[in-house]
Amino acid sequence: MASINENYLKLPGNYLFAEVAKRVKQFRAEHPQANVISLGIGDVTEPLAPTVINALHKATDEMAKKDTFRGYGPDQGYAFLREAIVRTIYKNRGVDVTPEEVFVSDGAKSDCGNIQEIFGLDNVIAISDPVYPVYLDTNVMAGRTGLYDAEKQQFAGVVYMPCTEENGFVPQLPKEHVDLIYLCSPNNPTGTALKKSELEKWVEFARQEKAIILYDAAYSYYITEDDVPRTIYEVAGAKEVAIEFRSFSKTAGFTGMRCGYTVVPKGLMGYTKTGEKVSLHQLWQRRHATRFNGTPYIIQRAAEAVLTEQGQREIKQTIQYYMENAKLLCAGLQKIGIEYIGGVNAPYIWLKTPDGMSSWKFFDKLLEVTHLVGTPGSGFGPSGEGYFRLTAFNSRENTEEAVQRLQTKLHI
Ligand code: PLP
Repeated sequence: MASINENYLKLPGNYLFAEVAKRVKQFRAEHPQANVISLGIGDVTEPLAPTVINALHKATDEMAKKDTFRGYGPDQGYAFLREAIVRTIYKNRGVDVTPEEVFVSDGAKSDCGNIQEIFGLDNVIAISDPVYPVYLDTNVMAGRTGLYDAEKQQFAGVVYMPCTEENGFVPQLPKEHVDLIYLCSPNNPTGTALKKSELEKWVEFARQEKAIILYDAAYSYYITEDDVPRTIYEVAGAKEVAIEFRSFSKTAGFTGMRCGYTVVPKGLMGYTKTGEKVSLHQLWQRRHATRFNGTPYIIQRAAEAVLTEQGQREIKQTIQYYMENAKLLCAGLQKIGIEYIGGVNAPYIWLKTPDGMSSWKFFDKLLEVTHLVGTPGSGFGPSGEGYFRLTAFNSRENTEEAVQRLQTKLHI
């Protein structure tokens, strides 16, 4: 008799976006004429940059010739990509990261889900609330939490860090000891980003507690404000306490290409039960080599192209395009008197549902009345109840149409 990992049974309902997709599918079936516009799942809509396409063609041609064909690559990623990452992402900001500390992967979702494997099950995790659901769910699956309390909408044994109107939607330092701290900046879904002075407090806290910060910087290219670090390693001492996850998905339209990377500094240490220090870099290297056979060569060449000067110019244009959409959505919400934050350092707008409506009720109403899809805030954590996420990932035409519908159809 094959027994199962019963931790999976602790997870309530569907994965958030699966539930959104299910409801939209049903709505489309019942309203085949409706022109549904999705501002929901947060997937990019604009094509890859020309420089990336050229690199893809070139790499594909190499695969067609005997003397340039490539089979398995280094599981940690080709040196050409790891060196380009160090140059463009870190050296340019005066940050000292070495290519050996960079692990190329098939995306940040895998990495931020898998990282918990190298940590003991007795670690206490701290999680922003609301936040990208992958951090919590993967810890639940691993057995690092207790049961789900449906009333509180919380798992036992997890330290939730509510990000609310009162604290400016910024996670506050926990009052108790924690071991693993998930921070996402800019945050999905609130769109808020941690300023340097705030990140400094987190780094200091982690040092005191001998905790590790798991820092997701998937949206760093959307930051527009000067006092918001683009990488946690801009903060002094962060290399002693933080692992950073990054992705080409939202940066360069790679959601369907699949490439991300994780920086595990060589000096970063975890502890055995008897208190001996162990290199987390070595553990992650061992895990990566055992479970991952490398990102495809042509994808790595495409990612390398993103990091060239021309590639950077091109991707920044697309990011600006999305951020113009964000501005349009913000202005539209303001006009109809809906409170919101975000849209400044992230492609996400976090709005307060009118009349204290529940997130899912607002989801249904918005779909029914305006044929627009967003994401219910409660799916990102209990403090997301009463909020709703819209994304700027869409064409200008669809965004303008969405704003028009919000202004003319959504009577609140
Ligand atoms: N991290 C955050 C905060 C995200 O919002 C997402 C995707 O939406 C990811 C990671 C996943 O990125 P990737 O496509 O690289 O797996």
